[in-house]
Amino acid sequence: MIIEALKALIAERGYVSIDQFMSLVITYYYANNQPFGKAGDFVTAPEVSQMFGESIAVWIAHTVIESGYQNFNILELGPGNGTLAYDVLNTLNKLQSLKGRLVKYYLYESSENLIQTQREKLKGYNVKWITNFDEELNVVPLFIIANEFLDALPITQLVKKEGKLYEMGITYDEGFSTVIGREMPDLSEYQDFVPESGILEIPSAAITLIKEMLASLGTISDVHLLFIDYGYLEFKYTSTLQALHKHKFVNPLTKIGEADVTALVNFPSISNALQNLGFAVDIITQGDFLRSMGIQERAELLSKNNPKLRAQIERDLNRLIAKDQMGELFKVLIAKPLAP
Ligand code: SAH
Repeated sequence: MIIEALKALIAERGYVSIDQFMSLVITYYYANNQPFGKAGDFVTAPEVSQMFGESIAVWIAHTVIESGYQNFNILELGPGNGTLAYDVLNTLNKLQSLKGRLVKYYLYESSENLIQTQREKLKGYNVKWITNFDEELNVVPLFIIANEFLDALPITQLVKKEGKLYEMGITYDEGFSTVIGREMPDLSEYQDFVPESGILEIPSAAITLIKEMLASLGTISDVHLLFIDYGYLEFKYTSTLQALHKHKFVNPLTKIGEADVTALVNFPSISNALQNLGFAVDIITQGDFLRSMGIQERAELLSKNNPKLRAQIERDLNRLIAKDQMGELFKVLIAKPLAP
């Protein structure tokens, strides 16, 4: 179905841009597959261990107390199976010092299937789903958190040829392939940085979404963001489009609709956009973030209480923080409003 839809669009327009391709394929994928876990296509950090969500709860609790908030809300973007929400809520509920201060946990999700999964997982919890930012989201102080969400948002890809920038796209002729599309003169401000034949990726959908979300809040004061994702801190000028199917990388143009298509997150561009909106931004590795939230001490305590699980807990901890696992490739972007 998705393949026919893509072919029809390509027949009409000659090609679809990378943005359009990602948007159609990713929406279809999340609506029609069971992405997560051993039986799915990939495993995310909250699914590895509850210690991940506990560490994020520690960050929220610390910031609430440090800022003196008497009440606060949380908005999670792209909550998947609802596991992170479940672990964060359970951890915050245990903290006596925060009792009664969490007003509501909002979930922003586009897949009807996953909303159902989240509903079951979060039965009995004080949560609310939102599907757009049009409605008045007047809920500051607000913590906006997201794990592996930005990488699922469409990007614009531009290639430099003879000094000019062109949009990259996907076309079809006996098979899908990439193609150089129309010239993009309105993006020429980027021109100088890109080497000849280099590809520039712009996280256009992420930046638009962040702007819309903050516009609907009407303020950035008392808004804190925590985005965790795999991505880069320096421009590479190559395509980072990739796809995972049954835990293996596949060509994004094969298994269309059955594989999870993502692009590495362009952290410098997201960070710039947030700074322009008035935020102070910090980016650290997932390993450093989790260690500074006390995940190693937490693992030790869990192991003491469940000696039989010690080996498993250590494996999970290692997966989350080790350099050759998720500890370094994954980055944590933390943004808070610049002091006035
Ligand atoms: N945070 C979860 C899931 C990550 S997968 C975890 O760490 O396990 C990406 C999630 O974002 C899925 O829930 C997917 O349905 C959702 N998503 C993708 N594109 C979206 C969009 N444009 N709007 C809202 N949700 C989206």
